[in-house]
Amino acid sequence: MEAPVAKQALDTSNLPFDNGDFYEFEALLSDAERGKLADARDFLDKEVRPIANEYWLKAEFPMELIPKIAELDVMSPMHRQGHSALYAGLLHAEFTRADTSVATFMGVHDGLFTGSIEALASEEQKAEWLPDIYAMKKIGAFGLTEPLGGSDVAGGTRTTAEKQGDTWVLNGAKRWIGNATFSDWVVIYARDVADNQVKGFLVDTSLPGYAASKIENKISLRSVQNADITLTNVEVPEHFKLAGANSFKDVNKVLKVTRLAVAWQAVGQQMAAFEVARKYALTREQFGKPIGANQLIQEQLTQILGNTVASMGMMVRLAQLEDQGIARDEQSALAKAFTTARMRESVALGRSILGGNGIVTDYEMAKIFTDAEAIYSYEGTYEINTLVAGRAITGMAAFV
Ligand SMILES: Cc1cc2nc3c(=O)[nH]c(=O)nc-3n(C[C@H](O)[C@H](O)[C@H](O)COP(=O)(O)OP(=O)(O)OC[C@H]3O[C@@H](n4cnc5c(N)ncnc54)[C@H](O)[C@@H]3O)c2cc1C
Repeated sequence: MEAPVAKQALDTSNLPFDNGDFYEFEALLSDAERGKLADARDFLDKEVRPIANEYWLKAEFPMELIPKIAELDVMSPMHRQGHSALYAGLLHAEFTRADTSVATFMGVHDGLFTGSIEALASEEQKAEWLPDIYAMKKIGAFGLTEPLGGSDVAGGTRTTAEKQGDTWVLNGAKRWIGNATFSDWVVIYARDVADNQVKGFLVDTSLPGYAASKIENKISLRSVQNADITLTNVEVPEHFKLAGANSFKDVNKVLKVTRLAVAWQAVGQQMAAFEVARKYALTREQFGKPIGANQLIQEQLTQILGNTVASMGMMVRLAQLEDQGIARDEQSALAKAFTTARMRESVALGRSILGGNGIVTDYEMAKIFTDAEAIYSYEGTYEINTLVAGRAITGMAAFV
């Protein structure tokens, strides 16, 4: 009788759905969007994935990618290019599948920074600033979090802005600000001492009194250059105050959209975990057969795939609501909480499938596993997003 192992020797490398999109959500895109997504995937596979581990280990950002990403022309897919929210989401998932640090660079430059300008600047300011931002000639950062103000930064912004004539004088500190060690600009949110409201400013990082130092020794998103920023009497001309950023409600307009993007990152992270774990399970042999032939390993792969598809399905529906202009804050919050919780389970299963090699950084899975931790905590932690959803469900706020 033929041994079961022979059946496992099939070449499965060309099977469809090896990227985790098991229900073919991508088919919901238009032909043009599918083509653009395929181009981006091709670029990411050729240019990003092969160098990602090396830069992650060095804790450096691959600066040479910036002009290449600019050439790919993927900035502001919805606002500028008129694409669907589903395309924007799947694109972000693809960036994450290739490398979460590069995806986060884009999430900061395109999402948080450019999103702040698109949502909160005047038409005149947009016309002046956006062309260089879209062309990635000017790189941006987003400065909201502070050393003493994390989850409670909405009511706890300590950085101050004081208007003196035609100039705003900024003082304070920001923490965790992605891209800020090399960015040309950073949007700083600061509390106006006159009315106590949080306002937004486009700050040129070469201004006197501005300093950024890199946060070292991270175990997650090591290629992302996160900075501690200090602002000491930084003088910002009135022209650089974002015209529509006059209270924390305005900041929330940006965060509502970027929270969605982070949930899409959780999808991409799971796609990566599935792809890497599946490949390993098909090639690693123990007890004379590929480990993927074992029922328990198949159960684990199925669990990762189920988590990925469930997360994607939720995000696809949310993208439709977003395109109709009716997506609500609490829906984004639930999506961020749910997808990142599933992601944490998926990357742990993927890590386990690689056994000891799962903790060695040569194998990509270790990067996928640890990068998931940052996604779980930034853009509103799992707990805070859960509480935003909980407030909507019960009508009672468990946090203020
Ligand atoms: C890699 C990385 C990149 C980032 N990039 C940026 C950036 O570019 N710009 C920017 O402005 N910020 C950025 N952040 C900051 C990020 O948004 C904050 O880390 C996040 O909001 C959490 O704040 P905190 O780290 O100060 O944690 P804390 O707020 O101190 O929370 C610590 C723990 O307490 C929990 N907690 C707090 N309050 C409650 C409550 N009421 N009930 C239950 N649990 C609670 C939290 O969920 C968390 O588990 C980044 C962070 C990371 C890690």
